[in-house]
Amino acid sequence: MDESILVVNCGSSSLKLALFDHDHQKIASALAERLNQPDAYAKISGDSVPVPLPANADHNQALASLVEAFRVRQWMTCDPIAIGHRVVHGGETFRQAVLIDPSTITAIDNCAALAPLHNPVNLAGIRAMQSLFPDIPHVAVFDTAFHQTLPARAYRYALPDHCYQDWGIRRYGFHGTSHQYMAQQAAQRLGKTPATTSIISAHLGNGCSITAIRDGLSVDTSMGLTPLEGLVMGTRSGDVDPGLFDYLAARGISSGDAHRMLNNDSGLLGLSGQTNDMRSLCELADHGHEPSQLAIDVFCFRLARYTGAMTASLSHLDALVFTGGIGENSPRIRQETVKHLGLLGIRLDPELNRSHGQVSNGRIDTPDSRYPVLVIPTNEELVIAREAARLAAAAGNTAI
Ligand code: ADP
Repeated sequence: MDESILVVNCGSSSLKLALFDHDHQKIASALAERLNQPDAYAKISGDSVPVPLPANADHNQALASLVEAFRVRQWMTCDPIAIGHRVVHGGETFRQAVLIDPSTITAIDNCAALAPLHNPVNLAGIRAMQSLFPDIPHVAVFDTAFHQTLPARAYRYALPDHCYQDWGIRRYGFHGTSHQYMAQQAAQRLGKTPATTSIISAHLGNGCSITAIRDGLSVDTSMGLTPLEGLVMGTRSGDVDPGLFDYLAARGISSGDAHRMLNNDSGLLGLSGQTNDMRSLCELADHGHEPSQLAIDVFCFRLARYTGAMTASLSHLDALVFTGGIGENSPRIRQETVKHLGLLGIRLDPELNRSHGQVSNGRIDTPDSRYPVLVIPTNEELVIAREAARLAAAAGNTAI
């Protein structure tokens, strides 16, 4: 019996599916994009031939086709033991991963107002997989859950109390699965336990967030009510003055237009006028494109500022950790950021930084740096697979 685990991550017009074996090694992964559009397509990693999808295929059809493709290739010869679903918003209801039952579905639906672009489509994926696999445990793993340990002083906005009491307006934080994984991985690499390890974790991908983790628990984070707050991102502005909205409204910009501007047209793309892709930006800057250099400067300075802010929540610091596509792959961004942190005594070794810490167990700092600096590849799918297996075992589905 091949005790496999499927991991499902549904976005608004795309989805990812990954298959893990009983040792939590990834066997296969697949991607579907442009869902609900005439040119919808699906592809298995490493295969050049796409998996056939009908025009305007939705999440249901894409998942069914990819599951079938995994079966045809004999990667999945029987039902998996569990399916883990990434769910973006768990509100204040979910502090950890849970087995999905009808009440879980209702609760996820109730959080949809907080993540209208994500929770409904996460639910669509859950329902599709439940109809394909009705007899096995399905587990929801929430982006927000890890941050439910934030103290009120970090999660409350200084708004009238009823905004929180009546409407749930507070900082929730996102990328929790990745930050939680950083806490575990950093502890392992430093020879400590997560419960005694305090780090600042910078997840820098298309979305970017930074989290203070004190003795294994999230105590402050840069994203807020939505994933727009905080750091500069690929197309998202991060922090702006809330007075901006009135100022824009007076110039005829509707709230919908302002939302689009801040979420889709800002960040690295907005500043550079060229691209949201950090690798391309670095190349443009090297060729003298000043707006691209400015985008990099604003990105790194904001990140350094937030790194400093995160120290307010810690009594000691075991490591500053970089992860995500940019954090894992860009020595330049790490160096430019740390350059602003001289007062904290953080220093990078140029050679170790260039090699992304691959020969030094992730370490890229100098011997005289006051704090260790680590580069750790994130693996959110693995965390979801582990959580799904753990809860399935607890539910008695297998003895993993
Ligand atoms: P997502 O948040 O969509 O999962 P990723 O974590 O894959 O995104 O990060 C994508 C970002 O990582 C892009 O801006 C990409 O340019 C950047 N990136 C990847 N490799 C490099 C590199 N070598 N140098 C600079 N940026 C890089």
